[in-house]
Amino acid sequence: MYKNIIIVGGGIAGMAAAAALSEIGMEVTVLEREKLPGGHVRSWDRLFPTLRAAKEVLDFLNKSLGLLTEIICDIEVGSIVPTPGGYTIHCTNGDIFTTGCLVLATGYDLFDARKKEEYGFGIYENVITSADLEKIFREGNQVTTCGGQVPRRVGIIHCVGSRDEKVGNIYCSKVCCVTGVKQAIEIRQMLPDCEIFSFYMDLRMYDRHFEELYFEAQQKWNVNFIRGRLSECAENPDHSIILKTEDTLTGHPLKLTVDLVVLLVGFVPGSSARKITGSLGLLQGTDGFLLPADEHTAGNRTLLPGVFLAGAVKGPACVVDTIADGRATAVEVYRYMKHSEVAK
Ligand SMILES: Cc1cc2nc3c(=O)[nH]c(=O)nc-3n(C[C@H](O)[C@H](O)[C@H](O)COP(=O)(O)OP(=O)(O)OC[C@H]3O[C@@H](n4cnc5c(N)ncnc54)[C@H](O)[C@@H]3O)c2cc1C
Ligand code: SF4
Repeated sequence: MYKNIIIVGGGIAGMAAAAALSEIGMEVTVLEREKLPGGHVRSWDRLFPTLRAAKEVLDFLNKSLGLLTEIICDIEVGSIVPTPGGYTIHCTNGDIFTTGCLVLATGYDLFDARKKEEYGFGIYENVITSADLEKIFREGNQVTTCGGQVPRRVGIIHCVGSRDEKVGNIYCSKVCCVTGVKQAIEIRQMLPDCEIFSFYMDLRMYDRHFEELYFEAQQKWNVNFIRGRLSECAENPDHSIILKTEDTLTGHPLKLTVDLVVLLVGFVPGSSARKITGSLGLLQGTDGFLLPADEHTAGNRTLLPGVFLAGAVKGPACVVDTIADGRATAVEVYRYMKHSEVAK
């Protein structure tokens, strides 16, 4: 009974861990609350930095799952209780699973942009989030204003819900800068006459090919990057939006009217992980994301025997790093199972 490894969360972290475990001959059950696996990546259209279709990555992971992986969808884990020699997993539909080894891959939530009231999301229809924009792209729709017009000017706002003491999140969400650059290019590809103004604190192009994409956005697509923090959005009678900012390079206040605003929302700790880990007493960082046993040397282990972490449940991460982390978790699980009583 205890031989079966349970992975909670069938996003790309859970899928990558399952694929690697199944490949080395271990039985895995993935519990996913949505109707299909894939997590947030299922909602994205094209991925930075190459603009390849997100679907290609998901298809690859789906195909890699192997015969030893069972994915059960539409099932939400509500709590996990330690029992002698293992754990009992209670699902909200009443199903119960027992295991000696489990991986928490429950990911993250998006910052709720309504909490930045001054930006007008949920109040002004021409203020949308980066996740909304992905949906428009993924569904093959045209980017328009709420009145169905082609926007002539779009404002992109960085650090919404991240690096912001007022909302209690001082950490950087890592991937929203490059998401903003990617989305600016995509809008220009779709609407060649539309001007883009991107407001940032500083641009964090930390990974391979990110800086090149930023160069391309400026040189090939003429995206305007303005170093400045938005103080508020206000709506004109025609529903266009006035952005009130300060250009922090020149020190001058700046007012700009745009037809559409895209808020680059950050990662926040998944509410589900908090609920589940309450009963386990796992460690959380000051940012609220789960902490591994040791950030340098045991990045996928926890202090509890047989409990592992994979992916964005530990904080913001891109697809490449998340898949690598899922596979790293599989190695740690294998090592544990090899030496543990639960597998005997
Ligand atoms: C707007 C935006 C755009 C992005 N675009 C890109 C991009 O272009 N390229 C890139 O590299 N990265 C991108 N990212 C980052 C990417 O989304 C993450 O790397 C990825 O989603 C992390 O995967 P994960 O599996 O760790 O978490 P998630 O995607 O959050 O998956 C977690 C899974 O766990 C499930 N789950 C949660 N709780 C439970 C529970 N209690 N029971 C059962 N199941 C549960 C969820 O339903 C979900 O399927 C973007 C992020 C944002 C915010
Ligand atoms: S990645 Fe960029 S937009 Fe996102 S929080 Fe960090 S600095 Fe801000």
